[in-house]
Amino acid sequence: MSSSRRGPSSSGDESIAITGGLVVTAAGSSHCDLLISGERIVALGENLQRKASRSLDARGCYVIPGGIDPHTHLQYRVGANAETADDFRSGTRAAAFGGTTTVFDFAKRASGSSLADSCLARENEIADSALIDYAFHATLTADGLDGDPNEEVAALRDIGVGSIKIFLAYPGRMMIDDFLALDLMRAAAAEKIIIAVHAENGHLVQAATSRLLEQGKSAPRFHSDAHPEEAEEEAIERSISLARVAGCRLYIVHVSSASGAAAIQRARSVDYNIAGETCPQYLFRALEDYGDSDKEAVRHICSPPIRQRINQDHLWTALRTGALSTVGTDHAPFHIGKTTPLHQSRRQGLNDFSKTPNGVPGIEERLSLLFTYGVLAGRLSLERFVDCTSTSAARILGIYPQKGTLAIGSDADIVVWDPQPRYHLSRETHHSAVDYNLYEGLEVTGRPRYVLSRGELIVADAECTASPGRGRRIRAGALAAAEPPLTSGRT
Ligand code: MN
Ligand code: MN
Repeated sequence: MSSSRRGPSSSGDESIAITGGLVVTAAGSSHCDLLISGERIVALGENLQRKASRSLDARGCYVIPGGIDPHTHLQYRVGANAETADDFRSGTRAAAFGGTTTVFDFAKRASGSSLADSCLARENEIADSALIDYAFHATLTADGLDGDPNEEVAALRDIGVGSIKIFLAYPGRMMIDDFLALDLMRAAAAEKIIIAVHAENGHLVQAATSRLLEQGKSAPRFHSDAHPEEAEEEAIERSISLARVAGCRLYIVHVSSASGAAAIQRARSVDYNIAGETCPQYLFRALEDYGDSDKEAVRHICSPPIRQRINQDHLWTALRTGALSTVGTDHAPFHIGKTTPLHQSRRQGLNDFSKTPNGVPGIEERLSLLFTYGVLAGRLSLERFVDCTSTSAARILGIYPQKGTLAIGSDADIVVWDPQPRYHLSRETHHSAVDYNLYEGLEVTGRPRYVLSRGELIVADAECTASPGRGRRIRAGALAAAEPPLTSGRT
């Protein structure tokens, strides 16, 4: 097969058959072909290549729903002198290379503006850049809201934004108090919108930070001491309590610790309206990886912080059993070495961890890491791999079954996953614009052979042919039923 595109658009009226692969969804696997017409999946079955104008050979491969990354920060400005290394163009290109076809990014409320208008302004800002589809979490800052919460939330629903991100951390910048959290949660419950939460106790973190700085402990290796596990556990439990009182659905992002995962597991034993996300950096990196090296520590600064290795087994178990539902990257790449005006070097954090922008990269590596160390290592079934890289995010964030599965009528967002290639992750070969790779040198197995987004072949034979601006904002919020209960025996 040739990867060349036919005419100006390779979607349109073209029909494509994906043949000979093992089709894997969260619900099960079967050997069959898959037929795409235009932007949608139109058939699953035998010998479908006869009905197609072209076919893609998937023999020896898994055919899976395109990855959905529920948590990215692209084209994101922090303060006056830091911006993420990836804009929507380079970031969504890196995502596509890694098998991700949808990202949920953030639209921060601009002061004086409504949540909905801030989302539309953000869409306008990035409309010419995205290579794959995207959605936004409307994001509150410490300024709160000018308008009535019910009207603000209803306006979000009307424009198809299905989630609101709040912070229980970063007092003065992002943190809101429990009064506003509760008001928003009640409004969200009424509109069937989900609340996403950065769950750390902001006062506790601020107090710990001040103490460390007073003691002269400002080096990067002290960043994690400023974010104790207890701060995460407390904020998770508090947000769960508030959400239960309000009756709203809750999505706890970037769970980093065993105690945080346990709190969510307790909640989910009675209530599937509570769901949690973890991130590759918490599964694959640990404090022990950098010890007392400040040069290494500064590459790892994110919040919540990367913790002791003992947490990793608990997070894997939580993913396997469904106590945690999704793996998002929280991709927030800041250059380590470059010092252009908007890309102040992370090395500024060598003097003061509290001044370095928080975040680590990983938008491209998510599926390969989870396939290698989840599926091939026997920690996750293939179906669960699909679930936590795609399906659960689609269900929780309200874009299922348009995205997140391989069903008739669903968008043809499809990855033909080749389980054979072995290679080492490296900044020399990754596609993010950032100047380091958090997983430098780590060996992984498997990568996409083909990636399709709404029926268009965008990655083939390690080349990306997607045009910037082809990605669309998708409407979220038509919430699917709460996830089915998972038993502790499910793998
Ligand atoms: Mn966060
Ligand atoms: Mn984040």
